[in-house]
Amino acid sequence: MSHVKLFIPGPVEVSPAIHQAMAAPMIGHRSKDFQALYREVQPRLQTMFGASRGVFLSTSSAWGVMEGALRNLTVKGVLNGCCGAFSDKWFDVAKRCGKQAEALKVDWGRPLLADQIDDALAGGRFDTLTLVHNETSTGVLNPLEEITALKAKYPDVMFIVDMVSSFSTVPVDFDGLGIDVLLTGSQKALALPPGLALFAVSEAAMERAAGVPDRGYYFDFHEFQANHDKDMTPSTPCISLIHGLRAKLDEIFAEGLEARYQRHQRLNRMVHEWVRRSGFEFFAAEGYRSKSLTCVANNRGIDVAALQKLMRENHRMAIDGGYGKIKGATFRLSNMGDETDDTIAALLAALDDSLSHLPA
Ligand SMILES: *Cc1c(COP(=O)(O)O)cnc(C)c1O
Repeated sequence: MSHVKLFIPGPVEVSPAIHQAMAAPMIGHRSKDFQALYREVQPRLQTMFGASRGVFLSTSSAWGVMEGALRNLTVKGVLNGCCGAFSDKWFDVAKRCGKQAEALKVDWGRPLLADQIDDALAGGRFDTLTLVHNETSTGVLNPLEEITALKAKYPDVMFIVDMVSSFSTVPVDFDGLGIDVLLTGSQKALALPPGLALFAVSEAAMERAAGVPDRGYYFDFHEFQANHDKDMTPSTPCISLIHGLRAKLDEIFAEGLEARYQRHQRLNRMVHEWVRRSGFEFFAAEGYRSKSLTCVANNRGIDVAALQKLMRENHRMAIDGGYGKIKGATFRLSNMGDETDDTIAALLAALDDSLSHLPA
């Protein structure tokens, strides 16, 4: 059986060049070679994050850091902005960590707006806010800059931002926006295999964490900082993935960040044009649509599972059939990672062919 290419919104397709880079000989995690590798990836990661304090590398998926951020920072209470499966789950995780948590919920497909967050924070009940920038389940891109502008009004609230599925597809400025924790994962737009989370932490967040006695070990921000200062990680990291990351950064900076952002915007627009010309609608509200994936509303009432099957069997392509409670009512197409005009054109042609073979 030939390989089925991934157009699901994570994990995404990983190139042979990255697999090759990950096959580099193993090195010790307390060796000079490792320190050199760690040091080498920092400047480019800092540029991408806009984070002058450095970028921590965690051997975990993104959820490890999403949970860890709450354990490091939430003392009084956390406001969880909820607009889809990932952001809703973060509220659940906060409660499971024993935190005083409150959900600010909007309907799936709608964005979280700064005014709504302002109203909720105004009561003074929270010292932490969680926000998912790009809600991968619904295809909503929340207005990050409008929301982080609230930081000036609520300096004691720690703003934790998940950019798991938007990082490297749109610009971000961690320092400039005043974000306290910005996190992403390897298997979405970075097009690396799963298993590595990357995150930046503000000085204020480090200070908050210092006063939290039960922040644990594996995701302790101060363990990360102390080891970062020696170009290392707290425990043995996924060294092969960091080799892959170095190769990916070479590719990203050869393309150029601005060119990369424009490519994702252009490919996303190609998918959007296909949605319109195919008579489908968008699940996400206009003006708040993701640039890295498209959540297509199944207003035509097609058999999504049958479409997935035709895509897989006839075209060796995997698309997603909708997440959780909107499975079948939506389907999702990713334009993250290494996709090009040609590969997205091939995806759209395959969708047209598959749709023409569906029973009317
Ligand atoms: C994929 C995803 C996550 C979870 O990532 P894991 O790697 O499974 O931990 C969190 N948030 C968003 C927005 C995601 O897309």
